[in-house]
Amino acid sequence: MSRARKKNPNQDFLHLSTPETSQTSGETAARLPPLAATSDQFRGALLGWAIGDALGWPLEFATTPASEGWIKSFRPWRKRVGGRWWGYSEDITPGSYSDDTQLTLAVARCVKDGAIFDVERFAYLELPLWLDYQRGGGRSVKAAAKSLKRRPWYANFYNAKGISYTRADGNGVAMRNLPIALVFHRSLPEMALYTFQNTISTHGHPRAYLGALIVSVAVAHLLQQVPSGPGKLTEAISTTLDQAVEILKTVQGEEPFRSQFFRQWVDYPGQASQSYIDLLDEELRNAKSQLEQISQFCSRPPIAWYKHLGALSWPKKSEAVTSANIAIYLVERHCDDEHPWRALEEAVTQVGSDTDTIGAFVGGLLGARYGLTWLPDDLATKVQDAAYLEHLGEELFDRAKQVRGSVADAHGVLVKQDSRADWKEKRKGWEKWIKDFAQNATPGLVVPHPALGEGKVTSVGVKPTGRSNYVTKVVDVLFKTGQTCRFHMRYKIGE
Ligand SMILES: [Mg+2]
Repeated sequence: MSRARKKNPNQDFLHLSTPETSQTSGETAARLPPLAATSDQFRGALLGWAIGDALGWPLEFATTPASEGWIKSFRPWRKRVGGRWWGYSEDITPGSYSDDTQLTLAVARCVKDGAIFDVERFAYLELPLWLDYQRGGGRSVKAAAKSLKRRPWYANFYNAKGISYTRADGNGVAMRNLPIALVFHRSLPEMALYTFQNTISTHGHPRAYLGALIVSVAVAHLLQQVPSGPGKLTEAISTTLDQAVEILKTVQGEEPFRSQFFRQWVDYPGQASQSYIDLLDEELRNAKSQLEQISQFCSRPPIAWYKHLGALSWPKKSEAVTSANIAIYLVERHCDDEHPWRALEEAVTQVGSDTDTIGAFVGGLLGARYGLTWLPDDLATKVQDAAYLEHLGEELFDRAKQVRGSVADAHGVLVKQDSRADWKEKRKGWEKWIKDFAQNATPGLVVPHPALGEGKVTSVGVKPTGRSNYVTKVVDVLFKTGQTCRFHMRYKIGE
């Protein structure tokens, strides 16, 4: 592998934390460094993300260690889907990815031409419709997706079956924010604000935001070839985290929606009158303290760091900051190795940890740094939807060229009129369509999906459930874009 280093524009990136107001237009904009990253790095990040997810997913709930050579190839496996009454066994084909990559693709479709993240499209279209084809989705994201049918994305205060919005601190945002990190990697104000919008549509605890920021800021530094050497990556992340949180503080409460989020958050039962920002500050100190300790653990076996963070048991193993800092540790430990692949191997084989999500983080981070060169061909071509992932990498690279460094761009989406009512109206049509689709799907049927575009049904299967009068219909669809999805719809026999 070529180990050539590029010019280090890291200082330029850090410089972005201070938005400047133009004397002529009055618009707040940051000075952008030149685009030094390549489309190879974007494609490598997306493919690495999906490969890490696909290698780690079969071991997500494993209790026995991975077999020798686990990460040399993809293999078929079987998964129990659903609970006691509605569950069934599903054969998972080699190289299949899970919710981490599915939602990353959904977010990528929401970064529109002109480099704008359309949070409403994500919250009101992509996320609710993902429920029909989700694979391995987390409880908070699923609860959030259902809740968005009734609540606005900026005040999605759900509380269902013990899952509460203000306590949601899991990986659900960090595992889907890669497109925002890639596109806005030169503009910290936009990255910080769009990541915040992406976060609060599903997760109300500041740890969810910080976990997503840590991974995203790391992607940005690695795209720009952060200086190598022990402790350099963690140092750069730590400094940029401070700057990102400061940016959020300077704009909080500026628009009506934000006032509502912060006000409703502090008034929510159980918050002990602590504000979101106060708790964010507290969690930021904890996250930075962990980052500072990484270099002391780099020469020790990874298990020591996992145990130190509590990443092998609940509830810590599912927390976003924990997972992010495990991934940063693995990348810091191996990033300058001759074969950085070792970082991914350690991530996806650490049974007892969140292997698919941490695998996705590590794969994405190494891809951001090294592009496609570090990926074994056998996996890069065989991971599910490889061609679509590469295509999206190119598309996001084009979006990154369009970034203007304007905070107004990030605000623009927020201050426009809330279009929730329009989306609600459209959704009635989709829901009817999904119901018809479930009943009538046959191989060859052309599918006009509202979020995924046109596709064709490739196979249809019926699975018995724990209730004798109900079955689950499993429908595979290949979309024109190259994405494949397995829809699963339960219905009563005879209806
Ligand atoms: Mg997953």
